[in-house]
Amino acid sequence: MSLLIDSHIHLDDARFDYDRNELIKMAQLAGVSHFVVPAVTVNRFPAVLKVAQAHPAVVYTLGLHPYFINQHQAADLEFLAQSLQGSGAVGVGECGLDYYLKDLDKVKQHKIFEAQVILAKYFDLPLVLHVRGAIDDVFNILKKHDYFRAVMHSFNGSVEQARQVTEHGIYLGFGSAVCNPKATKLQDMIKQVPIANMMIETDAPDQPFYDRAGKRNLPIDLLKVNMEIAKLLGIEPDFLAMHMSANAKQLFRL
Ligand SMILES: [Zn+2]
Repeated sequence: MSLLIDSHIHLDDARFDYDRNELIKMAQLAGVSHFVVPAVTVNRFPAVLKVAQAHPAVVYTLGLHPYFINQHQAADLEFLAQSLQGSGAVGVGECGLDYYLKDLDKVKQHKIFEAQVILAKYFDLPLVLHVRGAIDDVFNILKKHDYFRAVMHSFNGSVEQARQVTEHGIYLGFGSAVCNPKATKLQDMIKQVPIANMMIETDAPDQPFYDRAGKRNLPIDLLKVNMEIAKLLGIEPDFLAMHMSANAKQLFRL
């Protein structure tokens, strides 16, 4: 079995506080070699660093998530820039645009996101993107800065949008949503995505599997995601795992 890399997992989340070490160990024994943990607010930076320090298999990215736009301040961008300087961060994020929640200030979202694109380009780090209902706007900002080293995590766009962004070398992350038998549109889209542009993720503890509502996603669930996508594409899970790991290693320079 090829080793797997979870390209998006919130291991710092408080919901893992009582069994984090055991869950990481279990996933490692099952073949997960690396976990990419994105921070979402400056308040979470210490917790993310702590997990990374305790576990050599954990790498992290630092960023300001659009979901918490009301918390972010201009000083947070300065702090992010300072934190990226000489840190071991392998990327900038989780950042992006979220148009699903109407009370999230769009103008502020754009400002905070664009600043992070500039930082990623300056530090030559990839972007970990959160995009909901805003693929075209995120893509336009990346085009404006001519910077496409990025993964759009939990991608759920159209076939045409997938084609446009992957043509620029952007990676698309897929997770538990793929396993829902009702997610036929998503599954059909994934079949059109070049394997060289794909990544797998759990987004644990978020985005529970369709048959496990209310429960946490776990680090070991990456195997299930890998298995389901392999089945969908009609290829061996081991073959897919090999490609997924190579892609994550390339983007995050692991
Ligand atoms: Zn996330």
